[in-house]
Amino acid sequence: MASILYEVVRLTCPQVGICVSLLIFVGRKAMGISLLHLPLRFPTFTGGVHPDDNKRHTAHLKIEELSAPKKMIFPTLQNAGAPGEVVVEVGDSVKVGQLLIKQCGIISANHHCSVSGTVIAIEPHLHPCGSHVKSVIVENDEKYEVFRNIKPLGHPENLTKEEIIKAVSNAGIVGMGGAAFPTHIKLSPPSGKKINHIIINGAECEPFLTSDYRVMLEDTDELLIGCGALLKAVDASECIIVAESNKKDAIAKIKQNPIYQKNEKIKTAIVKTKYPQGGEKQLLSAVLKKEVPPGGLPADIGAVVVNIDTCAAVARSITTGMPLITRVVTVSGGAVANKRNFKVRIGTPVADAINAVGGFTAEPAKILLGGPMMGVAIHSTDIPVTKGVGAILALTEKDVGIKVTTNCTQCGKCVDVCPMNLMPTIIDRYCENFDAEMLEKLNIADCIECGSCTFICPARRDPLQRIRTAKKKINAFKK
Ligand code: SF4
Ligand code: SF4
Repeated sequence: MASILYEVVRLTCPQVGICVSLLIFVGRKAMGISLLHLPLRFPTFTGGVHPDDNKRHTAHLKIEELSAPKKMIFPTLQNAGAPGEVVVEVGDSVKVGQLLIKQCGIISANHHCSVSGTVIAIEPHLHPCGSHVKSVIVENDEKYEVFRNIKPLGHPENLTKEEIIKAVSNAGIVGMGGAAFPTHIKLSPPSGKKINHIIINGAECEPFLTSDYRVMLEDTDELLIGCGALLKAVDASECIIVAESNKKDAIAKIKQNPIYQKNEKIKTAIVKTKYPQGGEKQLLSAVLKKEVPPGGLPADIGAVVVNIDTCAAVARSITTGMPLITRVVTVSGGAVANKRNFKVRIGTPVADAINAVGGFTAEPAKILLGGPMMGVAIHSTDIPVTKGVGAILALTEKDVGIKVTTNCTQCGKCVDVCPMNLMPTIIDRYCENFDAEMLEKLNIADCIECGSCTFICPARRDPLQRIRTAKKKINAFKK
């Protein structure tokens, strides 16, 4: 509240704002508090919005193990890039950690079985993307027998960088913040590009989501062992764990850990709580004060961004030898009473997670995989939790807000908040009257699909939805 009041004063009356800043500065000096330790304002990016973070419902809830059901679904596509190739047959007996789907192509990933049992079908199944995708269906025998090849690889300190990258690739680790980009590719930048900064993304700026926050608090050792492994894999000079200012306690916990205290290359940073602070480019702008060039990658400025749960998964893949078969998922929203943070075996249908929280207490207006800003709406709960799904939200009409769309008033608010400096109002117009040439000139490809424009629009317009559809059309033309 105090910071909001300060912002209002600063913006409406700069002279008073400066006086307030000076008073705070002098006060802190008098109390012996360093500005470095207690900054007036946390670093951030330009633009963005401030939705209610709704994290209070689950932030205090420890991660609980969700029992896996009888029928598990493993899609061949759980990563950005190409789907993998199925390497088992119907009738095969499979074990926990056994390879089911082998990476296929340059950008692809392995996917493994998270239970033991029998392959009962290999067929198209409804997928979080909304289409049917070839999937391996396994009947869980509930014995959880581990595949014979699963063995610890030792401590990352004793492995070479090539061995670490190979372990990450074999384990099928992808970005668990939502993008699901294969991590071993991120760790292998194009020749001539050197990674100096590893940024561990604990911003978790999407409302309702608390899975990364709980991993920071509860799996601190694994997170820090993962940081050490990533530092070695790319020979970087620093690894910075970043959280928003609403998760300062998680950063404090990390700083108390002996692994953190022994490794001077591991650092922490706190950034302003603002959406979409967790966007790769927005995070790099806030932490490194460097901008990724348009159309470029973090590697272009010597950085790689890795999600919190992904970093912990890197550690597990090395210290236990177990591939990526679980992830933490927040189940929340106004339409579920017993909200939870679950450790979910990949392949568990959404319906089973919903049943585990006691089902719906109200008719959900929307069920989302992911957060309310960027999540994907689903129309059936017979969809598996895949590696990129960090939340299942069942939102009521009150959560979603009643939307009566009117004409654009040209208020310009969407332009003010766009973190990519785009012109959402004009892009929206050319999306409605589809004009690929104009949309390319307006740099539609740079849109990170954060939804800030949709959130802020007083006319309840939805530029994000039209941008997503237009991007798909443009990509289809190019194929
Ligand atoms: S145009 Fe794209 S990047 Fe800009 S606010 Fe809208 S969704 Fe976000
Ligand atoms: S915020 Fe909405 S009404 Fe305002 S300019 Fe953008 S699209 Fe138009």
